[in-house]
Amino acid sequence: MLTHTLSEKTSYFLHLEEQYGAHNYHPLPVVLEKGEGVFVYDVESKRYYDFLSGYSAVNQGHCHPRIIQSLIDQSQKLTLTSRAFYNNLLGEYEKYITEYFGYDKVLPMNTGVEAVETALKLARKWGYINKGIAENKAKIIVCAQNFHGRTSTVISFSTDPSSYKDFGPYMPGFEIVEYNNTTAIEKSFQDKNVTAILIEPIQGEAGVVVPDEGYLKNVRDLCNEYNVLFIADEIQTGLSRTGKLLACDHENVRPDILILGKALSGGTLPVSAVLCDDEVMLNIKPGEHGSTYGGNPLACAVAITSLQVLLDEKLADNAAAMGKLFRDELAKLDSPFIKIIRGKGLLNAIVIDHPNKDAAWDFCLELKQNGLLAKPTHGDKIRFAPPLIITEEQIKECIGIIHQSLNILNH
Ligand code: PLP
Repeated sequence: MLTHTLSEKTSYFLHLEEQYGAHNYHPLPVVLEKGEGVFVYDVESKRYYDFLSGYSAVNQGHCHPRIIQSLIDQSQKLTLTSRAFYNNLLGEYEKYITEYFGYDKVLPMNTGVEAVETALKLARKWGYINKGIAENKAKIIVCAQNFHGRTSTVISFSTDPSSYKDFGPYMPGFEIVEYNNTTAIEKSFQDKNVTAILIEPIQGEAGVVVPDEGYLKNVRDLCNEYNVLFIADEIQTGLSRTGKLLACDHENVRPDILILGKALSGGTLPVSAVLCDDEVMLNIKPGEHGSTYGGNPLACAVAITSLQVLLDEKLADNAAAMGKLFRDELAKLDSPFIKIIRGKGLLNAIVIDHPNKDAAWDFCLELKQNGLLAKPTHGDKIRFAPPLIITEEQIKECIGIIHQSLNILNH
């Protein structure tokens, strides 16, 4: 495996985490202390292009001035009331986000997985109350190679052993079907106890797996035919990342339940949301669901600005244009080590073709050396997802860095 010498300062921080933190991540050996726009800086003040964007939480760019200003202003006024009382921002935010996405109601949460849990609970309630499913019989369809987070329920329907192994017993009530296969979905929908299907419009963690055109539309049609709720997990794909506000917009599909997170706060604090219409949302009554921090005024202020920035700076359009440029320029490199280039907008990945099983990791170390941060997923895949504010000139510079770094794979 390739190793570059680490500075004493960097080693100090690596050792601190190694010694005092749980070992539940395997980070690239770089210690960051500052972020600005598309760049992050390490403790030696070395600058890098950030091609992970906090797993797509930093769509608006690091420390976006308007988002940070909202954070500062609101944090000096009121940060948390709990939902035991009203606050003067929650209603404004609820109005803003529901009009923005065209749904009757929103339920605010914090992390992405909490919003997924919320959506699953809403879908089960709807199944019992609206669809007449017998108690405890509701079933939710999910897709193989999914990633929806890390709670015990959500890992119960993961197909990745590193997510679920030794964490059982597992939550029942889920059926896994192949992704990008509508025949499998229709078969599963024959069961009258199916209340919903949970889908990532593009599977991010699986390595940016883009389904065939028409897949989402066909799933939507099947949901209509069989009276099943379409739940879209747009935590990673949403908020302009793929070149449209939502990835479902590419096929003009409107989910019954929409899950958002990550970039809803531009990378400043955990803010997630579940949107749906009254028929689904109003089944949950006072006391049946909640969260201490969900809907706190600080999150509401930051989320409104984060959403407004996406529109004001036309980030969906920029993601579409820069994403196309990136994939085109990458293809032109014609590298024998890049087996596949795929993605939409600025959610992209390559699959490395190399006999050395550490090749993708080594390549990422070399990219780091040359000033670009990206991380392998599932061994041979590397995601390239910079902040959506990236410019044409910067994309071209990054292609140069990638080109130069590919040389390491010749050794
Ligand atoms: N769903 C999707 C599609 C994700 O990509 C992620 C995180 O990567 C999650 C859910 C979980 O979000 P969080 O880590 O904020 O709980």
